[in-house]
Amino acid sequence: MKNYLADSARTASDSYFTDKVTEEEVKATFEKFAETGEALDGQKRKLFYGKGDKVEGGSVDDFSFENLNGNIVHSIYGLCTEAGEISEAFLKAAESGTFDEVNLKEEAGDLLWYLAMLFRELDTNFDEVATTNINKLKARFPEKFSQDKAYNRDLNTEREILES
Ligand SMILES: [Mg+2]
Repeated sequence: MKNYLADSARTASDSYFTDKVTEEEVKATFEKFAETGEALDGQKRKLFYGKGDKVEGGSVDDFSFENLNGNIVHSIYGLCTEAGEISEAFLKAAESGTFDEVNLKEEAGDLLWYLAMLFRELDTNFDEVATTNINKLKARFPEKFSQDKAYNRDLNTEREILES
């Protein structure tokens, strides 16, 4: 985890193709994402804080989360809702012309909190996950990031690293 920031920079793209996606498309997609985050936040409050009245019906064939680990479900809800809040931060920055960096760090911290919840349930920790992630990326990009290697991944080798 100590070298994660430097190690992760090695595999980051250094290009920014703003002529490949329109502003209209980006705005609409992030608005939808932020809206989904808000809807999930409402469900999270009901599921994990007990808000709202009891409901009946609405079951779906081949879909049930009742018997899944509740803390993992909670962490997934949290990661998605915080990602929605990061989306809102991007939308605001695109309107104002500047990022609220204090807010971005706050949302990153909230994401970390939900990752910690997930790691406890998976009996792992930040160091182990960071090391495995960097090892996977080193296999994908032995020298540095490249577009070709980003598209053509050796998923079998990556899976072997993830399972080791
Ligand atoms: Mg937040």
